[in-house]
Amino acid sequence: MLTRVKSAVATFMGGVMPGGGGDTSGASDVPSKFPYSRPEFLGLSPDEVECSADHSARPIVTMKESKSLPWSTGYAEVINAGKSTLNEDQACCEVLVVKRRPPGSSPASSRGLVARRRSSLPNGEGLGLREDLVNADNLTFHYWALFDGHAGCGAAVVASRLLHHHIALHLQEVMDILCTPDLQPPTCLSEEPARHNLVPTSQRALTRAVSLRGAAGAPASPSAPPTRFFAEKKVSQESLVVGAIENAFKDMDVQIEKERAVYNISGGCTALVVVYVLGKIYVANAGDSRAVIIRGGEVTPMSREFTPESERRRLQFLAYMQPHLLGNEFTHLEFPRRVQRKEVGKRMLYRDFTMSGWAYKTIQDEDLKFPLIYGEGKKARVLATIGVTRGFGDHSLKVHDSNISIKPFLSCCPEVQVYPLAQHQHGADDVLVLGTDGLWDVLSNQEVAEAVTCFLANCDPDDPHRYTMAAQELVMRARGVLRDRGWRISNDRLGSGDDISVYVIPLVHGNVQD
Ligand code: MG
Repeated sequence: MLTRVKSAVATFMGGVMPGGGGDTSGASDVPSKFPYSRPEFLGLSPDEVECSADHSARPIVTMKESKSLPWSTGYAEVINAGKSTLNEDQACCEVLVVKRRPPGSSPASSRGLVARRRSSLPNGEGLGLREDLVNADNLTFHYWALFDGHAGCGAAVVASRLLHHHIALHLQEVMDILCTPDLQPPTCLSEEPARHNLVPTSQRALTRAVSLRGAAGAPASPSAPPTRFFAEKKVSQESLVVGAIENAFKDMDVQIEKERAVYNISGGCTALVVVYVLGKIYVANAGDSRAVIIRGGEVTPMSREFTPESERRRLQFLAYMQPHLLGNEFTHLEFPRRVQRKEVGKRMLYRDFTMSGWAYKTIQDEDLKFPLIYGEGKKARVLATIGVTRGFGDHSLKVHDSNISIKPFLSCCPEVQVYPLAQHQHGADDVLVLGTDGLWDVLSNQEVAEAVTCFLANCDPDDPHRYTMAAQELVMRARGVLRDRGWRISNDRLGSGDDISVYVIPLVHGNVQD
């Protein structure tokens, strides 16, 4: 067992894995769904992609001057110091226009129903989206995402290409409500939202008018879109967007699982997503990346990290309810340290899923099993294998040299936090910073806030690249410089050896909804 643990830890802590490899599915004879690349919006040539993977120089890659992202968003990234051949972080940034689904069309495909706008266009062409924001037939949302892959980059690449389409599809399901002012909260919903498009158009219009009159106490507008509502529960517009994002995450993970049969989708990935729609920012996090708002120099956390330690009670509860998932080799209980055979019959501190504190128990033989969660901080592992507990993929991942699956303990469900952007006034230096753990491993929230605030204060306020330069500054501060035998940052601390990806999103643009 100890050998198994050592091997597994070596693989996930420091082993060099070939690009796209590291998966145990044995599916290497099938093609990748998408080839490895860097984020599409960077517009890198194949040669530039290859140069970006230089572990010795670790060049910081930013947006080219000829390109821009929505809201003048800044982005920068750097590859790791050698823990994997390729950069396993991925990113995506888009502006999408969701169109109302024609009556009778299938909800299974977004083809023709979702238009991509702006992010990949040189010089930010096509900025005139304002009409789309208020058009009852179109719903525009802005989207930024970071994916931190492990054990290969397959899952991260797939998620970076597809997750926004799943979000668009789920927003489309509720856009009748979101885009129609007289349907905004208080709002009444069907108890079975997925069925509402099965009702013939004429019947839906009639059903809607009747149910709305009963629910909201007001007659429905004759031009209102046809749909079917009931008065069971009042649901806010905000919670509908949150639900759309949550279900999109689940669909993304299901798609990865299904497509493993025909594509090589290696490894897994965390996901940190920002959606801006209808005046609010939604930050959805599944993993250990982090989002913070820096406003007037003050930090507001917009996400929580999901790690073996932060999710101990959820994981222990699952193992308690389904002990077969532990394969008779692990115990769901936590002890302060590994229990030794000579300690059987003695008392030792422990805790289970019901406890935040500690208590004593008499050690029995079964307590000698390896703990479900073992290690502290960045070294904490679930089933001695993996250090993150939420994200996509990992469907084939097993405890080394065993048939024990990791996936049941990993969740693709995000936690979503909402920031009512339109309710606040923002200055040009107020930003939302997103970073993978490579940034936050070595810089605190406060250090990031001070660095960004200081940097932007010394920039030309009219320079459209100031946020790109701020992102570059953050990556530089986390990577450090190569000195002696390692990367060093301020105060001679060790720099981050991980992949680092950072967005700096100016919030002032939310004031004008461009
Ligand atoms: Mg990382």
